[in-house]
Amino acid sequence: MTHWLELSKAERVDAVIALGLPKFRAAQLSTHLFEHLSDDPDTWTDIPKSLRAQLAEQFLSPLLSEVTALRADRGKTVKTLWRLSDGNLIESVLMRYPGRDTLCISCQAGCGMACPFCATGQGGLQRALTVAEMALQVFRAAQACARGDLPGGPGRLSHVVFMGMGEPMANFPRVLATLKLLTAPTPDGFGLSARNITVSTVGLVSGIKRLADSGIPVTLAISLHAPDDALRNELCPINKRIPIAEVIAAAHDYFQRTGRRVSIEYALIRDINDQAWRAERLANILNQGGHAWVHVNLIPLNPTPGSKWTASRPDVEAEFIRRLERAHVTVTLRDTRGSDIDGACGQLATS
Ligand code: SAH
Repeated sequence: MTHWLELSKAERVDAVIALGLPKFRAAQLSTHLFEHLSDDPDTWTDIPKSLRAQLAEQFLSPLLSEVTALRADRGKTVKTLWRLSDGNLIESVLMRYPGRDTLCISCQAGCGMACPFCATGQGGLQRALTVAEMALQVFRAAQACARGDLPGGPGRLSHVVFMGMGEPMANFPRVLATLKLLTAPTPDGFGLSARNITVSTVGLVSGIKRLADSGIPVTLAISLHAPDDALRNELCPINKRIPIAEVIAAAHDYFQRTGRRVSIEYALIRDINDQAWRAERLANILNQGGHAWVHVNLIPLNPTPGSKWTASRPDVEAEFIRRLERAHVTVTLRDTRGSDIDGACGQLATS
């Protein structure tokens, strides 16, 4: 039977009718799940007891089982390794910041993009995740926040970033359906604000266009990592097919169509992409579209096991930031949450 998180509102009604139940049972179940975040049938007291077990069995197959949960940053970062029903492993990371709880989710088991600095990229693609497998990561994290599992007490999951394992644009139809579920108002969905959701891509322009077409104003992040095609061909091999100019044009178009400022992700790798001239070249590329459309998010490289690469020296990092700022590019330095728990993409599942 199809998982509840896989079904549209209309399909949920059809599904309960197919079981010979009145259609209001669909609204009841959705209210328990999305409003009360309760998948424990014992709490569904407005549904007859015998029916609760049946509904749970029909619509809430487990899909994800927790393998390990690692905590860092005094418990404010929790990285969970999940096993899918077919044995594949994925990760999600929950981070509590002042005033917001952010979850980083996976959209594929593995990844086919083969970026050499990324742990997930080394193992290749196992398979795409279903809508329910993506949404269930969000559900579990929302439960953890509501229960007060993180220091600071009960909170509300407010932000979701597609920055875990996988390439969202390579699983586009399911990612889009997941975005619809995340942004649908409760009790039909999670009721998250599209503005609090970020979809990060290596730069598959067809997906960027389709995301703009969808009309869901999420934040778009582009993993650029280099301002010149020669280097980006190495760091992100897909660049040989979709060069920087095309990626930037699609990102700029996304900004123009949605009004959402685009985020450029740039992992600073010592002596590889952190030279001052590359900062200036990056600024030149971005400034061709004006100043307001974009900001740069620098990520200190989180070295993966066995990698020859490491993070930039502090003075080099500071100079890179200075050059961008001098060219009027807005820049932030990503905190390195969870680097002590193999926080880099895919490290846990790989080990
Ligand atoms: N496929 C998507 C999501 C990937 S992970 C994408 O490419 O955007 C999210 C971000 O983490 C990407 O910018 C990715 O390049 C970056 N990343 C992967 N491994 C990293 C590492 N070891 N250190 C720092 N950033 C890393």
